[in-house]
Amino acid sequence: MQNIDKPLIVAGPCSAESEEQVYSTARQLSELGIKYYRAGLWKPRSSPNSFEGIGAKGIEWLQAVKRDFGIKVGTEVAKREHLELIANADIDFVWLGARTITNPFTAQEIADMFADMRLDIPVMVKNPVIPDVTLWIGAVERLHRAGVSQIMAIHRGFYSEGNVGGYRNSPQWGIPIEFKRQKPNIPLICDPSHISGDSRLVESVSIQASKLSFDGLMIEVHDRPEVALSDKNQQITPLQLKLLLEKLKACSELPNDEALSLFRAKIDELDKSLIDIISQRMEISHQIGEYKKINDISILQPSRYEEILANCVKYSQQKEINTDFVRQIIKLIHQESIYKQF
Ligand code: PEP
Ligand code: MN
Repeated sequence: MQNIDKPLIVAGPCSAESEEQVYSTARQLSELGIKYYRAGLWKPRSSPNSFEGIGAKGIEWLQAVKRDFGIKVGTEVAKREHLELIANADIDFVWLGARTITNPFTAQEIADMFADMRLDIPVMVKNPVIPDVTLWIGAVERLHRAGVSQIMAIHRGFYSEGNVGGYRNSPQWGIPIEFKRQKPNIPLICDPSHISGDSRLVESVSIQASKLSFDGLMIEVHDRPEVALSDKNQQITPLQLKLLLEKLKACSELPNDEALSLFRAKIDELDKSLIDIISQRMEISHQIGEYKKINDISILQPSRYEEILANCVKYSQQKEINTDFVRQIIKLIHQESIYKQF
């Protein structure tokens, strides 16, 4: 996959749901010039009550897309059975999901299957669920040793408690950048859909990835996202994809400073985290306010305020941050908390 068209765009629904949905989405995407079509046949869902994919039945639907629109089709594989089915069905590429990559035994088992079957189709490796670049690189190396010659990596964000920054999976851009530093020859694309978890964020994450010189995008696109059986909130329509690609093109014509973009992406993540933490603090203040009301305790307790200030000043000294600055921030936050308790 060293000579890929850049940006490489892989688009298609989270899951293949019906023959009509797969075909109609693919037709609209092929009209936009999309050359790689994704649709999950076997879905790794956290809950057993979710839609777990249509399974082998959807293989024919992908074959019809390939035949009628001349675009390459791919799906996620996680078991020998999946790999055997797709190998005999002329599916063009596969991806390994974040949950699969998180377990090195499973990653090795899959690599062994590629070796046994002497299967050498392009494989896209998602990052593991946890932010560990070694685990991600390890999976790539296992496949490489198994004789897979066309490997790409997909950055789909990392699990973080409480959806930090409003993302379903926090981007932690430093990790894919480190991946790229260690594996400069592996094309790296971004999956803004699983990072965002929200169709309204897909555009800004895509623009950030493009400023960071990612080699492409894997985006979930559904002809009718509102009725999607999986990842409904994050899928966009073919029309939204068209507008997004136009915007990306316009952005790529502007001068770009990759190093500066990485710093800015990190600052944006941290600023969002600051707001998340302030919001959590306000929520606790509100709960304290309720508790004080019920127990008839006065809102302002000067000694407690002094204690908070002293703790924060001490900690800011340890962290070598200007203590006056920290004092002012804490004062403002404390005031706001008091208002919350009225
Ligand atoms: C997917 O691409 O639909 C998927 C399940 O992705 P991930 O493994 O990134 O969660
Ligand atoms: Mn999905």
